[in-house]
Amino acid sequence: MLPDPNLELSVVIPFYNEGSNIDCLFERLFCALDRLEVNYEIICVNDGSKDNTLDGLLQQHHSNRLVKVVNLSRNFGKELALTAGLDYTSGAAIVPLDADLQDPPELIQEMMEKWREGYDVVYATRRSRQGESWLKRLTAALFYSVMGSIGDVPIPHNTGDFRLLDRHVVDVIKQMPERTRFMKGLFAWVGFKQTCIVYDRPGRHSGLTSWNYWRLWNFALDGITSFSLLPLKVWSYLGFLLSIVAFIYATFLIIRTLLFGIDVPGYASLMVVILFLGGMQFMTLGIIGEYLGRIFEEVKGRPLYLVRDLHGFEPPSSLHAS
Ligand code: UDP
Ligand code: MG
Repeated sequence: MLPDPNLELSVVIPFYNEGSNIDCLFERLFCALDRLEVNYEIICVNDGSKDNTLDGLLQQHHSNRLVKVVNLSRNFGKELALTAGLDYTSGAAIVPLDADLQDPPELIQEMMEKWREGYDVVYATRRSRQGESWLKRLTAALFYSVMGSIGDVPIPHNTGDFRLLDRHVVDVIKQMPERTRFMKGLFAWVGFKQTCIVYDRPGRHSGLTSWNYWRLWNFALDGITSFSLLPLKVWSYLGFLLSIVAFIYATFLIIRTLLFGIDVPGYASLMVVILFLGGMQFMTLGIIGEYLGRIFEEVKGRPLYLVRDLHGFEPPSSLHAS
């Protein structure tokens, strides 16, 4: 979408099976946005929901033309749904928001104030996370610390996609062709003038999170492989270190054999070394596979997402590819 000079704010919301949250979300959202007294639009992306989400969104669109709907052809995942939403925005400031009311829309006011002060990105950092198990908090903390120590760009801790982005930033992100879209990494990668505001993150309003631990693990792998080559590089150094150890041990064995003759063969130590090195080799192969698989996904060059239909965008069109 081309930027609209009269439009100040675009809110982008990905929806996946969020039927039970729609009414409450829009009520609060309209209330918060009307208070801002700016021209705004709400871009809703239906990410292949299997419940009544699309009907709910169309109902909102028919009662208020500021609500626009991008209906994807299937479930593409949150990152790609958000990408689709960003592509259809035309406001001067853009705010991605979760549909489950975990990102309080009232904070947009504070973000807009910072934006008017001249910041390009205003991200919202979670002071606390309600409704999340200790295991999720622990794994999240672990992820951020690993990412912080091996990633190419510092990614703000405890920060989701909820943030305000200036048009320039969104235009840059739209030009990025990669399909492994670890959004918070991309948002950090672009740089620009960034600042943060802090908030307490409530639990989901209703419904269940669609992120189980397996999905989170793969999301973490996406983040690490997209923003660090260290997992690939570390093996050459480790291999070098092991070769030195092996050389020293070999020298020791040769000297011992020369001085004291052949000893009883050490079956146990041999097994340990073989299994250890075998395990390491499988692991390195696995890590190469993680990168290779992603390279394969990239070179296929398929569109990032497919749009089935659009509601509220002029001129109306259907079956768009990105
Ligand atoms: N979402 C999506 N596609 C998916 C999964 C999630 O568009 O495949 C949306 C979901 O509707 C919500 C947001 O992404 O608006 C965050 O999802 P969720 O609340 O499940 O994640 P969490 O808050 O647990 O990280
Ligand atoms: Mg959520």
